[in-house]
Amino acid sequence: VFTSDNVPQAPEDPMFGLMAAYRRDTVEKKVDLGIGAYRDDNAKPWVLPVVKQADEILRKDPNLNHEYLPIAGLADFTSAAQKLIFGADSPAVKEKRVATYQTISGTGAVHMGGLFLSKFYPRPSDQPIYFSSPTWVNHNQIFSNVGLSSKTYPYFSTKTKGLDFEGMQSALESAPEGSIILLHACAHNPTGVDPTREQWKEIAKVIRARKHFPFFDCAYQGFASGNLENDAWAVRYFVSEGFELCVAQSFAKNFGLYGERAGAFHFVTGPGPDAVNTIGRIFSQLAILQRSEISNPPAYGARIASIVLNDPALFKEWEANLRTMSGRIIDMRKKLRGKLEELNGKDGSWRHITDQIGMFSFTGLTEKQVLKIRGDAHVYMTKNGRISMAGLNTGNVEYTAEAIDKVVR
Ligand code: PLP
Repeated sequence: VFTSDNVPQAPEDPMFGLMAAYRRDTVEKKVDLGIGAYRDDNAKPWVLPVVKQADEILRKDPNLNHEYLPIAGLADFTSAAQKLIFGADSPAVKEKRVATYQTISGTGAVHMGGLFLSKFYPRPSDQPIYFSSPTWVNHNQIFSNVGLSSKTYPYFSTKTKGLDFEGMQSALESAPEGSIILLHACAHNPTGVDPTREQWKEIAKVIRARKHFPFFDCAYQGFASGNLENDAWAVRYFVSEGFELCVAQSFAKNFGLYGERAGAFHFVTGPGPDAVNTIGRIFSQLAILQRSEISNPPAYGARIASIVLNDPALFKEWEANLRTMSGRIIDMRKKLRGKLEELNGKDGSWRHITDQIGMFSFTGLTEKQVLKIRGDAHVYMTKNGRISMAGLNTGNVEYTAEAIDKVVR
């Protein structure tokens, strides 16, 4: 049945192409700024010390076995995940208005949300979901795979290299009433640009007025600012305002558990007499979706995260580990900006490097410049000019700044 005529060759994932080109490059001074995972100052993967401790605790547990987890996941993990994102005093958690499922990391959580909404969102099936322009590339495929079409709202201003707040606001105002709006909870990927708290409040106002449904993708809590509360502020604000919403939560970046696929999907109903009944029904439907797709989520990463999240001393240590990662990244932002300004005059044109937050920065470099840096200096970044701060270290940041400086002159 299948021939090369009826199965077209899929386009190569641009990230994989970039990684392969980097690996092939034999020049020693090459720099990988495509990388989507934290690296230490020696450009090496970093196992969080607190994760090592949790791993030892886990290995010593005489009752450890390899049975299936429940369909909803490890209960100690999902309850701690709720508290982490919504806060221990969250009205939604206290009033039992949250349905939580352990998922295959953040990707699986985004997918679970998309699948649930594609089946149950009470709107015309051709109503699109709205993404920021640009957004994490995978959003497009995850939602189109479940049959949801998408449109975009303006987000990044190429002029200011910051948020196009007016553009975003007016697009949300003119989107059809009751649209699903995908929002990055913090450390927007790929731009590194987040709304301020005042701007979030305005965004909430428009979403409320237009009866839109907010869907938060939260892949960087604690990793962005080093402070778990700060990075969850937008989600908590929306919940405190009584919004019905959902959240895809990843533990890949903040625990360095990339390959272990620890994540959670949360659905929150708005307060009201029907809230608990509705959440019970949503929970029951999510069970069917989970069962048919993965049956039972993977245990190891959730066990590690759960040990840390439920132990006050380990939790504190985790916060210190988060500050180590976010602190190194913030330091690299300062060093990169400092060197660029030293080379290029302090005209403020590199301010966005330190204004932006999280793993990524949108440099404003054009595709032509990106390719020239790759060819001339062996510095690898995605064609949209996004650089991963995790790829910078004290050994290569000045070299990278010089390479960037050469192509922008
Ligand atoms: N959402 C965003 C915006 C991301 O940047 C990522 C990771 O890069 C994810 C979700 C999901 O990552 P994972 O599936 O590894 O948790």
